[in-house]
Amino acid sequence: MKFGFDVDDTLINLREHAFHIYNKKLNSNVPLENFESLKSLEIHEAFGLSAQRGGEMWNSLLDEIYYTNCRPFPHSVETLKRLVDLGHEVFYITARESKHQDATKKWLIENGFPVKDSHFFCGMKDIEKLKIITELQLDYYFDDKPAVLENMLDLPIKIYAKDNSYNKQIELPRITCWSELQEIIEQDKKDN
Ligand SMILES: [Mg+2]
Repeated sequence: MKFGFDVDDTLINLREHAFHIYNKKLNSNVPLENFESLKSLEIHEAFGLSAQRGGEMWNSLLDEIYYTNCRPFPHSVETLKRLVDLGHEVFYITARESKHQDATKKWLIENGFPVKDSHFFCGMKDIEKLKIITELQLDYYFDDKPAVLENMLDLPIKIYAKDNSYNKQIELPRITCWSELQEIIEQDKKDN
């Protein structure tokens, strides 16, 4: 089967990584609970920053946020490797700008993710994601972003929300931990 994955905050814990970087740069000590209860994808509110200032901060720190020691979510690397070992195809579909394509791919490989050049799509805006996952005829697709998932409610593909505080309103099946994926696949086999 063909499995597609968004990267940031689906496979890797990027927002939390950025949260710790913001705390350090702003010399602040915002507790993790404030971050965990955010209802927005953007994290600036936890620091009392305006959207504009938050956007500037995100962009100025982007390389540090993307290419340092962000943690993959638990079991994400092992789960994707196992899919490949079982003969499935794993696709990455990220909205990171195209200029980040090579460095992002390199970072993923260095962190243990199984990445094939032909299975990595960078610079995919929300609506382009919809197009590419349809063209690739994926069986499963996983993402965390409400604006992306909202476009996919009626697709004949198994779409899952990677559970987070800012996407609870999306009425789709969800995955909380990557250790659940094998079970989800087994269950779907039984249901069909
Ligand atoms: Mg994401």
